[in-house]
Amino acid sequence: MNKVAICPGSFDPITNGHLDIIERGAKVFDHVIVAVFNNQSKSPLFDVDERLHLIKEATKHIPNVSVDVSHGLLVDYAQKKQVDAILRGLRAVSDFEYEMQITSMNRQLNEDIETLFMMTNSKYSFLSSSIVKEAARYHSDVSELVPSVVEEALKDKFQPSKID
Ligand code: ADP
Repeated sequence: MNKVAICPGSFDPITNGHLDIIERGAKVFDHVIVAVFNNQSKSPLFDVDERLHLIKEATKHIPNVSVDVSHGLLVDYAQKKQVDAILRGLRAVSDFEYEMQITSMNRQLNEDIETLFMMTNSKYSFLSSSIVKEAARYHSDVSELVPSVVEEALKDKFQPSKID
């Protein structure tokens, strides 16, 4: 039976930490859907179409990964797509509390959808989209932290002429 996981997130932008979870998830599941959720409480650097494009480019070497966007509730999306599991990455203890809250809420909403956690690769344990954006804003080298397509997109966003 085909096992499908959804890897949800803001991906603003996708980093090598995200990619590591997606690649490892794609070895465990038959199919992984990377779904961009537009978190209303965050003001994103990249719009949804840009984020979709960057994820598609960064994951094009993984045949059993597809990319999608959802504006609704994660559990509704997961049910509609009939996924077997929600796959999330865990970096540090600081992630735990937040993930515990979200997972409990999702279980409350739909107890049939299981959430699985994958521990980060230790070399990415400090890595977040926010840290990457902060570094790129000041023109630091982020080539080890993000796929090259993202590095280029960040350079473009933070061109001196585009920063106020
Ligand atoms: P959200 O806004 O939903 O937290 P993110 O794009 O920040 O979305 O993260 C999406 C998922 O990727 C989350 O499960 C997060 O814990 C995981 N993740 C982010 N960065 C890393 C990393 N460096 N290593 C492992 N997992 C990560």
